[in-house]
This record gives sequence, C-alpha cells and structure tokens, in this order.
Amino acid sequence: MAEELRGWNWHQPPLEPVYEIRLPLYQIAGKYCSSGRDVYLNRVEKKSGTPNLAMMRGALFHSLISFLLVRTKKLIYFHGTNYETISRELSGSLSEFMEKHAEAIRKIEEISNSGNADKGEPLTIIDCLEQVFNYEFYSITSRLQDVLTRQPYIGEDSLASQVVPFVLEQQLDGSFLGLSPYLRSDAYVFSEPMIVDLKFGPREPFHRLTTTGYALVMEALYDFPINIGCVVYCEFKNRRLHIQKDFHIINDELRQWFIEERDEKMRIVYDESDPGRAAQCDEKCPYFQFCI
Ligand code: SF4
Repeated sequence: MAEELRGWNWHQPPLEPVYEIRLPLYQIAGKYCSSGRDVYLNRVEKKSGTPNLAMMRGALFHSLISFLLVRTKKLIYFHGTNYETISRELSGSLSEFMEKHAEAIRKIEEISNSGNADKGEPLTIIDCLEQVFNYEFYSITSRLQDVLTRQPYIGEDSLASQVVPFVLEQQLDGSFLGLSPYLRSDAYVFSEPMIVDLKFGPREPFHRLTTTGYALVMEALYDFPINIGCVVYCEFKNRRLHIQKDFHIINDELRQWFIEERDEKMRIVYDESDPGRAAQCDEKCPYFQFCI
C-alpha cells in the first residue's frame, strides 16, 4: 500500500485537501448521479433532495438493525449473563421499534400503496421489518448462547464485546481530509480493523468508496492502518431476505479513486460550476424535479 495514500498523510498531497470546503462522505462516495450535479444542486443552489421510497425503506432497516444491536448491548449490561431474560426482552423489541417509527412506516405504506410505487416489491414494509428483525434476533441469540456455553465465567463487558463485536455509528471528524466533522460510519469491527457499510439495494462498484473514505478518516484520526472493508447487501428476493457480503481490500486504486472524487466534487462546489445533467437520469433520483 502506498504510504502517501494512508490517511495519516492527510497533510501532504495527494490527500491534503486543495479547497477549504467540507463535504459529507456520502456526497463524495455516492455516485448515483454520474455528473455530480446532485452535489452542485445541494451545495451551491441549496436545494434539498426528496428521499425516494428505497431510501426511506433503507433508512428504516438501518435504524432497526442499529436499534437491536445497541439494545442487545444494553440488555447484557443490565442483565449480565442471564440468557433467558435477555432473549425474552429482545424478542419484544420489534413492537417498540414500530411504535417509535409509526410515522415513517405510515408514510412508506402510503407511497407503496399509491400508483408511484415500484411494482416489483410484493412484501409490505411490515413484512420486511419482521424479516430483518427475525434474522437479527436469531443471529444475536445464537451468538449469545454460543459464547455463554463456551465461557462459563464470562463477565458482561466481555460478553457484550463478543456478541456485538463492533462500534455502531461511530462519530468521526473528517475535517483533516476535507470531509464533514460529523461523519458516522455504520459499523467498525475492532477485532480485525474493518469498516462495515450496510446497503439495501443492488450492488454498485462505487459502494466501496464509502468504506474507503471511512478507512482514510480513521487512519487520519488514529494513526493505524485499516486495510479491509465490507459492504453488506440486504435485498428481498423471492419474498425472502437475501444477504451478501462484499469483503474487499482498501487498496491504492480505491484510495486514489476516492481522492479524485473528493477533489472533483470540491471543485464543483468551489467554482460553483454546474456540471450539467448526467448521461442517464432515473426519475427516482432525489433531485429529479430540479433537472427535468
Ligand atoms: S436528475 Fe440526473 S442530473 Fe439531476 S441530480 Fe439526478 S442523476 Fe443527476
């Protein structure tokens, strides 16, 4: 791995930001608009995109997973090694989550039932949430049982770190690299330093830019190498939750690509130059209304 592409070399080219601009990581790594006009509209013209149905559903699934994993940690700290109580209380978490997010669920249902919805998805949002919940619930409780049967004298702190072996939504300051000071990675695995990002939708090559960006930021902040990323894809196929993991090395090529994207998007904002419409626009693009 080239030394100059490690995050701790943020103070020299090519990592040193050329412009005094801070961009959120998702605007650099999200190449859904191939010309970068989404960034121009948002940062220069101050337009706000309208989240599409897939984005709304994805945000809810993200919240559910994060809610369950944090709840698991809390229950372990509260009930120690009492498997029965932890799993019983965790099993009741879905209804609590749905109550908390009733408004978002209602909105998604409303759009799904309207003529604008994607007809390819036969499952309701409630069906999907139940499937995500069941998958997570059984993964967590089987890990819990496994650790408890192997380690009879384990304490709650060690148990929590083995059952949920990552930091969720870690807050990171990306200013050194020209990124937002309030970044939040989906998950960071500390046993083998690895950035995990969760996606609900089809695979895109540029998704690896997100793990790369977070790896660079963590290297800049903590001075240790992060070489591995993993994008977890969750999709509903044939009425079932389908999960695939894309493990990848955060190599020079990805690092270089991330820096080029950052520099190009910073230039668009600094020069206030409209890059024009993308070669192909999807009407589900959050900024479609500003580009027609
Ligand atoms: S509608 Fe097209 S040009 Fe406009 S932001 Fe979306 S993808 Fe880019």
